[in-house]
Amino acid sequence: MINMYNSGLSIVRYLAKSNIIVQGRYASQALPQLSSEKYDVKRKNFGTVQAADINYFKSILSEQRVVTDESDVLPFNIDWIKNCRGQSKVVLKPKTTEEVSKILAYCNEKRLAVCPQGGNTGLVGGSVPVFDEIVLSFMLMNKIISLDEISGALVCEAGCILENVDNYVRNHNLIMPLDLGAKGTCHVGGNVSTNAGGLRLLRYGNLHGSLLGIEAVKADGTVIDCLRSLKKDNTGYHLKHLFVGSEGTLGIVTKLAIHCPVLPKAVTLGFFGVENFDNVLKLYRSAKASLGEILSAFEMADREAITSTSKNLKLPNPLSEYPFYVLLETHGSDEEHDADKLNRFLNKEMDSGLILDGTVTSEPAKMQTIWNLRESIAGAGLLDGYIFKYDVSIPIVKYYDLVPLLRQRLGSKATRVYGYGHIGDGNIHINVTVPEYNKEVSSLLEPFIFEEVSKLQGSVSAEHGIGFRKPQYIHYSKDRSALGLMRDLKTLMDPNGILNPYKVLPDDV
Ligand SMILES: Cc1cc2nc3c(=O)[nH]c(=O)nc-3n(C[C@H](O)[C@H](O)[C@H](O)COP(=O)(O)OP(=O)(O)OC[C@H]3O[C@@H](n4cnc5c(N)ncnc54)[C@H](O)[C@@H]3O)c2cc1C
Repeated sequence: MINMYNSGLSIVRYLAKSNIIVQGRYASQALPQLSSEKYDVKRKNFGTVQAADINYFKSILSEQRVVTDESDVLPFNIDWIKNCRGQSKVVLKPKTTEEVSKILAYCNEKRLAVCPQGGNTGLVGGSVPVFDEIVLSFMLMNKIISLDEISGALVCEAGCILENVDNYVRNHNLIMPLDLGAKGTCHVGGNVSTNAGGLRLLRYGNLHGSLLGIEAVKADGTVIDCLRSLKKDNTGYHLKHLFVGSEGTLGIVTKLAIHCPVLPKAVTLGFFGVENFDNVLKLYRSAKASLGEILSAFEMADREAITSTSKNLKLPNPLSEYPFYVLLETHGSDEEHDADKLNRFLNKEMDSGLILDGTVTSEPAKMQTIWNLRESIAGAGLLDGYIFKYDVSIPIVKYYDLVPLLRQRLGSKATRVYGYGHIGDGNIHINVTVPEYNKEVSSLLEPFIFEEVSKLQGSVSAEHGIGFRKPQYIHYSKDRSALGLMRDLKTLMDPNGILNPYKVLPDDV
């Protein structure tokens, strides 16, 4: 514990157990409505899986890796927030790139549509089928291939769980360059395919920068080998970037090489109560100026986000109630140097009144408790019944504007409206909870929220992607010329459209 201030800040005194309880589970008695019915989608002209197809898949995989039992297939049909439900009849679990290649070549030939699935923690319905697409699960492609401890280059298969890889590289004094609340379930292949952002993008940058190389399989089964571990490689077009964030619509990621930064020797976490949003912005500016290169995360959550998470999941909030909360983390290499910087920053901002109250700790268990409260916000609203989730980027001065606007627009029709997110990246998550899915609330929210984001020059998807839920809104953030080029790329790489249909691109571009 670093005690770096004299008064005003209380120390975290509890050691509540990690308690993210809502992780991809669904109650079988309350299955979500079928996506095709809920969103009125028509099935495209794909083939239907026949007994002969199942026999072929069994011939290249083993019997156990071709799942057709209805109850075993069900979890692969339902997304994490229980908003989307597909109707797939078969899940394939390849173990090698060669198997993926054979599956795709066959499916392409037979015009069988495929839905790639990693940890199924995606929040825009991209990871589950809409109709009877074959689910291609990467859960068995989970081997670490190599680690270069000097350069920090890790090579692994796409189905490795992010937290497992992070634990592995930590044993070698490195960390994964990304971290997110779903780390215990999401796959690194899913992270690359969604271009996941997460909690420390502010410090370690986005995946376009960290991804060194990739191996991917095209719709026709061709394996594209760009699996180099070089930091610099300007030889021709940067093909690996086509697969970053394309959500399984251009190809299947099978292996990847990623740059792992050095494990920080000194980590400190602060959790602060702040009077209003203007002060959150001032505090962010001051933190960047005072902490410079050691600032690794700057997250904010409004009162409703923290108090409802604490209440719904029975997680302790170390502070009393404040209009806004800030979670600030430092990663550095010298405890004394970092503590000195942080001390000066804290003293200054407690005196200025930007920090009303707070707690600062370097004890791993206590830091975990605070992170747990922050990371649990994403799922805690599920206990209210149903969540409408929005993940948008907005120029930072207008970052919070939409939350009061939506509260006013929805009034008592919503149980709660709250905002939280990665303020350092201009990325706010806006959650609206209701007792159950409700078309009236849905139509008050969409397209209104995307129109407002567009007026503010923001992006309708900051980090979760477009998936199944947002293709009709992509034009709010990309113009026709960009969408046209995306369509050309899709046609070039997947001419029969078998890869993750109904996702990312709307039909009319
Ligand atoms: C509690 C919680 C917190 C979260 N926090 C964040 C956050 O901070 N930042 C953030 O960016 N996201 C966050 N997410 C969203 C989600 O975790 C990320 O989008 C994650 O990267 C998805 O990985 P996954 O393995 O679960 O992929 P899935 O959900 O299985 O799939 C996501 C998309 O990628 C495709 N896909 C998956 N694997 C492959 C592959 N090998 N090849 C080709 N396509 C593939 C799927 O078809 C789908 O379109 C959070 C989710 C939860 C539940």
